[in-house]
This record gives sequence, C-alpha cells and structure tokens, in this order.
Amino acid sequence: MRSHLLNDTTAEHYRRSVTEGVERVAAKLAATDRPFTGVTVDDLTPRIEQIDLDRPLNDTAAALDELEEVYLRDAVYFHHPRYLAHLNCPVVIPAVLGEAILSAVNSSLDTWDQSAGGTLIERKLIDWTADRIGLGPAADGVFTSGGTQSNLQALLLAREEAKTKDLGSLRVFASEASHFSVKKSAKLLGLGQDAVVVVPVDHDQRMQTVALAHELERCAADGLVPMAVVATAGTTDFGSIDPLPEIAELCAQSGAWLHVDAAYGCGLLTSRTRRSLLEGIERADSVTVDYHKSFFQPVSSSAVLVRDAATLRHATYHAEYLNPRRMAQERIPNQVDKSLQTTRRFDALKLWMTLRVMGADGIGQLFDEVCDLAAEGYGLLAADPRYDVVVEPTLSTLVFRYVPAAVTDPAETDRANLYARKALFASGAAIVAGTKVNGRHYLKFTLLNPETKASDIAAVLDLIAGHAEQYLGESLDRAC
Ligand SMILES: *Cc1c(COP(=O)(O)O)cnc(C)c1O
Repeated sequence: MRSHLLNDTTAEHYRRSVTEGVERVAAKLAATDRPFTGVTVDDLTPRIEQIDLDRPLNDTAAALDELEEVYLRDAVYFHHPRYLAHLNCPVVIPAVLGEAILSAVNSSLDTWDQSAGGTLIERKLIDWTADRIGLGPAADGVFTSGGTQSNLQALLLAREEAKTKDLGSLRVFASEASHFSVKKSAKLLGLGQDAVVVVPVDHDQRMQTVALAHELERCAADGLVPMAVVATAGTTDFGSIDPLPEIAELCAQSGAWLHVDAAYGCGLLTSRTRRSLLEGIERADSVTVDYHKSFFQPVSSSAVLVRDAATLRHATYHAEYLNPRRMAQERIPNQVDKSLQTTRRFDALKLWMTLRVMGADGIGQLFDEVCDLAAEGYGLLAADPRYDVVVEPTLSTLVFRYVPAAVTDPAETDRANLYARKALFASGAAIVAGTKVNGRHYLKFTLLNPETKASDIAAVLDLIAGHAEQYLGESLDRAC
C-alpha cells in the first residue's frame, strides 16, 4: 500500500501513473467531436451506482478504464468550440501544468511554514493584480475559491467598516443584473431581509445611476446606513459594465464602500485594446476577480483585492497552533490572517505559470478574440429575422431568443426556446445556456473559446431554429 504514497521511493510510479492519466485526457481532447454525448441522468446513475467503493481495483489502468465509462466519455468538454453555455473557459496549458505541480507538492497557503515560496508568489500575483487595477500603494488581497467567496469576504469587510453595528440598518445596493452571491452574502453576514436594495438597469443592462442616487438619498432619509454599493464589471448574463466613475462618485458622497464585482470582466485588465472599459475600477474599496473565467485558468482561481490592506484584519483570528500573534511581530508572512479559509490550495501557481510562459498580453489577446467574436455573433443575430437579441455585447455574451413569425403567444415562444435548449443539450451537438429577461425565456451564448468561429455560431443558430420549429410543428399537431 505504501507504493501509493508520493515520496522519494515512488517517484517513478508517480511519473508513470500521472502520465497514463494525462495520455487518456490528451486522447480524449484530440478525439472529442462534440461538447457532450447527450448522456442522461438515467444512463449514468446505474453505471456509478454499481461501483463498489469498498472493492478497489488495485490497478491504475483498470481504474482509468472504469473512469472512462463513468466520467471521461460523457463529460461536458469546455474546450470544444460549440460549448457556448456558461462562464467556463477552455484552460491554457501552462496553468494545467501549474495545477499538476501544485497538487503534487501540495503546499498549503495558510502559513509560511506550509508553503514558503508559495506565499511570496501568491503575494506577488496579488500585487500585480492590484497594480493592474490601480488600487494604490496600500492595496492587498488574497486568493479565494471563487467569485462567490470573494464577494462574501468583500462584503464582510464593508460590514465591519460600516458606521454602525446595527445590522438591521445596513443597506447594500446592487443592480438587477448583479450576481446572486450578493444576496447570499448579505444573508450569511446576518443582514436583514431587506438589506439588498435592487437598483434597476438601463437598456444596456447597466445600473441606472440616477436610480442609485435616489436610493442612496432615500436610505439616508430613512436613517439607514449605506454599507456598500456593488458595481458589476461584466454581468453574468449580459457582460454589461456598470458606470464605474459615476458610481464611485456616489459612493464618495454617501460614504458607502465600493465593491466592484469584476469576476467576469477582469480579463480586460490584460487587454491591450479594451482596458478603458474598466475605467473607474481604480476607485474601488474592494474588487473581485475570477481568473477561472476570463484568464483561462482551471477552477479554482480567484481573488479579492482591497484598496486598504488594513481592512483585511476583519478576517484575522489567531490560533496558537497556527498563526500566533508573535509571528506577526517576527514579520513572518502568513496568508491565513487575510483569508476566510484555513488550509488553502496554491491556486496562484497556475496564474504564475501562465504569466511566465505566455505573458499577460497573451491572456488579453485571447479575451479580446472572444469579445470580437461576440460582436460578430451580434451582427449575425441582429440580421437574422428568426431571432431577437437583447443587447449589443460589451464582453462576450449574447442573450437572444428564437421568435417564430407565426406565433403570437409569448408563452408559446418561451416553450419553443426552452425545448430547443433541452433538445440541443440532449443531442450533444452544442450546449447553450438560458436566462430570463423581463419574465420571458431567452437563450444565452457565453463565448470564452477563441477557437469558436462565427461559422460555429451560425451553425448553432440553425440547430436551435430547427429544434424550435420541430417543437412548434408538433405542438400544432397536438392542437389539431
Ligand atoms: C461567476 C460570477 C460570480 C461567482 O463566481 P464563482 O467563481 O462562480 O463563485 C460572481 N459575480 C459574477 C459577476 C460572476 O459572473
């Protein structure tokens, strides 16, 4: 059994074992001709159910053969050009290499004595990111598990910095199109039911600053405390960027903490042509970035950045066994003081390898390509009488719906679009997402694959129309 432990005597076994796994994945990547096989829950459940976890195979190749059956064959492959659904990216190879290294060395980034250089590498990447944002000399931050955790931590700091401890009087302002983790965080932070004030968006799905100003005034008039404004730089559905300079101004006037949720839009930090879209982000008190979205990194890789390092103290607790106060006095660097997590992956290594091999411009170029592709896709949709498209893209998403000329009932159009999405998924030929706009069902492309071409978009639009038409034809038959 000891042969399974990674150490000096098993280095060769490790090399062979991992290589065998890498070979399987490489073969899979090369041979995948569609993003999904269309496997159903009912197909897969018994295959996984029948495996007896108490009877090991004692053989790597056999376990990999089995894995082929229960996972690899039918997984959803984000690298395929017709995976157009959620905010998942194909990953860059230097980052995957970093992933392999970090799990083998298995550093834990909570303390210096579990990571050494890892701590300094993470700190340098935080400084690099804060610098790109323009947060100033006192900035700091920490890697997190994702945008959800980054938003939670940012709002925790905002709550602790607020002028009152009366949680019921705190208000957080976020647009209709903001991420649901804002509401979830408010709940976790013990804020009241009405804590999150939803600010309407304009035609372009950006927060209406006039409405925000009204809400802030009303908050003051009611004797409540504006704890934070969450501006979204790249909304999940539309990629729209809230007017950051105007919002920053309103925050300065009202004393509210400005949190910029750039989980999606952070890729612009590396763009040579679109960086100006983030103008105003440098005025934030805190920023969420998801490298695992627009930096082409494997899950997880995310960070929360703050303008003032001192605010991170609200996440600091001392444990005698881990990070006693005297360590701070001895100036031994330690990341657990800044994090909601304790044991924590060295995710930063993936971004490090990416920057060292490809450089930031390389990432920015990939992100620019998908934004260009979205603009092209918008052109296709706008010119296509079969489709209604919601908004011209700022980043790389397109929200649209199939609108059959002969159908006047919007509920029937809803059903046709829902059916088309499901049927497409079941076919495995392509995967698209869906969302609701003004109460109606829409479809969504999230374009994060530079390998996707306009011709893929055109082909998928034809597939969707085909499924929707089939649904409508059948429903007509049912009615007759
Ligand atoms: C994806 C997303 C999040 C949540 O990030 P996770 O990494 O999925 O936890 C938060 N905000 C926005 C705008 C997002 O797009």
